Amino acid sequence: MSDLQPLPGFDWTKVKWGAPTAAVTEVCSYCGERLSEEGVPLRCWNQAGWACAFCETCMQKWWGLESYAEPDEDAEGREP
Ligand SMILES: [Zn+2]
Repeated sequence: MSDLQPLPGFDWTKVKWGAPTAAVTEVCSYCGERLSEEGVPLRCWNQAGWACAFCETCMQKWWGLESYAEPDEDAEGREP
């Protein structure tokens, strides 16, 4: 659970929600790109149980999420 908010310009009306009874989508609900099998798509559900998923491109573009594969630089903190 998180309080993720999409970046300015995101249009919820373009999201193709999947019905609660439908199979889990394998394409991005926003741009229609096929979701990477290796990646971890961002999945959301609304209060009615409808689901949507976002590909890595949309995750970065609209949610400001960096690819999980990015190496974490500056992980070392400075000595106090
Ligand atoms: Zn997409």
